[in-house]
Amino acid sequence: MSNKFPLTGISSVAIHSGNKNFSEASHLPPIYATSTFTFDTADQGMRRFAGQEDGYIYTRWGNPTFTVAEETIAALEAFNLKDKDGKPLQLKAFLHASGQAAMTTMFMSNLSAGDTILSHFSLYGGTHEFIHKVLGQTGIKTIIADLRDLNVAEDIIKNNPAIKLVHIETPANPTIQCVDIDAVSKIAKQHGLIVTVDNTFATPYLQQPFLYDVDFVFHSTTKFLNGHGTAIGGVLVGKDLGFMNGKAYKWYKLLGGNANAFDAFLLINGMKTLEVRMERHCSNGVIVADFLNKHKAVAQVNYTGLTSHPDHATCLKQMKHPGAMMSFELKGGLEAGKKFIDKLQMCVRAVSLGTVDTLISHPASMSHFGVSREQRLEYGITDGLIRLSVGMENVADILNDLDQALA
Ligand SMILES: *Cc1c(COP(=O)(O)O)cnc(C)c1O
Repeated sequence: MSNKFPLTGISSVAIHSGNKNFSEASHLPPIYATSTFTFDTADQGMRRFAGQEDGYIYTRWGNPTFTVAEETIAALEAFNLKDKDGKPLQLKAFLHASGQAAMTTMFMSNLSAGDTILSHFSLYGGTHEFIHKVLGQTGIKTIIADLRDLNVAEDIIKNNPAIKLVHIETPANPTIQCVDIDAVSKIAKQHGLIVTVDNTFATPYLQQPFLYDVDFVFHSTTKFLNGHGTAIGGVLVGKDLGFMNGKAYKWYKLLGGNANAFDAFLLINGMKTLEVRMERHCSNGVIVADFLNKHKAVAQVNYTGLTSHPDHATCLKQMKHPGAMMSFELKGGLEAGKKFIDKLQMCVRAVSLGTVDTLISHPASMSHFGVSREQRLEYGITDGLIRLSVGMENVADILNDLDQALA
């Protein structure tokens, strides 16, 4: 099925974008569990290598099952957006083995020794460690600042000509801070910088960064896009098709961070229900945040849907809804937090997020264990902070479980 018929809703796009005329009239995309693809003749092999003929060569370079997932994600990120000429925005995506692999291709294909990244301070633990440890070792530096302060962002950019790329994660893990993508992107573009966004927490259902002239978006598809916690995965999406098909593709192939067909299949199935899942995650999220916010044992709730959250206005500006991610602190601090976590009976004690079930984690001892305590505190990741990914259970059961564990 092609996309000649204009689809007006995001679920239709999620369900139909990657559909092709699969072999044997298979309704669902086949799982192409193969490392390599055959050539009819030596000449055909040569033409494929030379890029003169379309066709798959070797799964590290691409695979038909990946293509279905890639085209679906590209269509979701581009949904209803236009390019500079007013035509439907065209994006290119590469499916990776993990979010970490997608960010590796993104940073390595755009940066080299001597370049500097400017990033917001509340970041996914793996991103924080990657840019400091791995990229640091290759001669790429990082400046971390509070990018919610636009004057600070502009000053740093003006005073550091080595900055080549501005990386934004919003909402940010685990503080749920929101960075104004439009405002930061405008400043960065005035200085000719590359802008990258980690859209994992929001998904294209809640937020479409390409609306604000950013260059690349990446996701850990492990989270809401897959939605069921069945596979690790990541995707890099870009709008400069020359760069994506050129250098980004080359680096994708050379770094070897490709996905596998089975995980791609799981992701494809998960994404079909993205909209309905997100609607439920979101409606549960508001109710849970409100419950925690009113509970006498809770000292503070970080949820951008609360008017008390400092980034409430930014969230309203760029997100369809504040979502299902939140973090909070109990009045009793770390000890009370541990007791609470241990008493939960339905909510699941696990890292990761965006699955159908409610997941609860403790960033200081889990996802951000690799970040020094001093830095964690500076970023707002206190010892007692608890992160909640609100699932799709019936909300009364989530509230009952939280309530009995808080008692
Ligand atoms: C999980 C996550 C990543 C890393 O993705 P993996 O799939 O675990 O490699 C990056 N950014 C954010 C915001 C995440 O939640």
